[in-house]
Amino acid sequence: MIQKIGFIGLGKMGLPMAKNLINSGFTVYGSDVNEAAINEFQSYGGKPGYFTDWIHHVQCIILMLPSSKIVNQVIDQIIDHFTSDQHTHQEPLVIIDMSSSYPDETRKNFKKLTEKNIEFIDAPVSGGVKKAVTAQLTIMIGGPVESFTRCKRLLGSMGSNLFHVGPIGSGHLIKAINNYLSATHLLASCEAVQLLHSFDVKPEKAIHVFNHSTGRSGSTEYKFPSFILTDSFDSGFSLELLRKDLEMANGLFLNAEAATNLPQLVFDRFYEASAALDKDADHTEIYQFVSSYLLRGKLNEKDSETISSSSNTSVGI
Ligand code: NAD
Repeated sequence: MIQKIGFIGLGKMGLPMAKNLINSGFTVYGSDVNEAAINEFQSYGGKPGYFTDWIHHVQCIILMLPSSKIVNQVIDQIIDHFTSDQHTHQEPLVIIDMSSSYPDETRKNFKKLTEKNIEFIDAPVSGGVKKAVTAQLTIMIGGPVESFTRCKRLLGSMGSNLFHVGPIGSGHLIKAINNYLSATHLLASCEAVQLLHSFDVKPEKAIHVFNHSTGRSGSTEYKFPSFILTDSFDSGFSLELLRKDLEMANGLFLNAEAATNLPQLVFDRFYEASAALDKDADHTEIYQFVSSYLLRGKLNEKDSETISSSSNTSVGI
């Protein structure tokens, strides 16, 4: 039975998830390159240390890292260490990649790890920091059912909806497409609200009506009232991470030669936003980016009208 867990990546999501494991009675060892995160983890009762310090004490390692590139590096380091010192590891080891990673990379990692007798499943999450804190994440699991069954209790300490969705990589596939849907709703809602605002309909009113109509979505029901209409833009999910997810989702549509432009269009908008906004911008700041392009034509028209009527000279802008 899994009782000791190693957790790598104690960021906005990883920290509350690790805290919930500790609160559920697991012994949790943790690593992060950020010292502040390590200190906070320790204050919750976690045991900090580099993974080589604790790898032989644990039956499971959870990864909650920003990108596939980093996940792959960490997995390679684990394999190197595990192989050089395998005799000290008494119990079977399972690695769970809960990051939003590339499905192709996940399949490659599964192959590498299986060759070393290390079990591997993908278990990305949805619900954001709020549901990570309340242990109500939705977790989408890909990989062997036996490995999932071994991890069910610990996953249940972090999430309230556990879905085994298919073979290895399936969780990451569905997660990328889920975030594409979520970003598409968000972008469409931002454009819709700003268009209505230009006709003097207040954003709060528009959102209220959408939420009682068929135009509602997770964006109108949660993100607008919590982070956009309040001007707080602090959902805890960065624009950069969503851009990564959209690149992944768009790549899936392109590789499948799917006859649609929508994923490319949505990706392009978020790509432009992440180039234009601050490196640490929250993904809900797309609302402000939308205002920089949506009614540019109309605003320019207004500006040139003002200029020509004030100077009697026609100025094209
Ligand atoms: P984050 O940037 O807040 O956390 C990532 C953590 O990993 C950081 O603390 C960083 O220091 C650490 N890290 C980076 N490289 C490392 C390494 N080599 N070794 C150890 N630690 C390392 O990101 P997050 O928002 O917590 O997201 C983590 C993952 O979860 C991402 O894949 C993201 O796409 C996904 N996700 C995020 C949210 C959200 O709302 N924030 C929701 C669902 C899924």
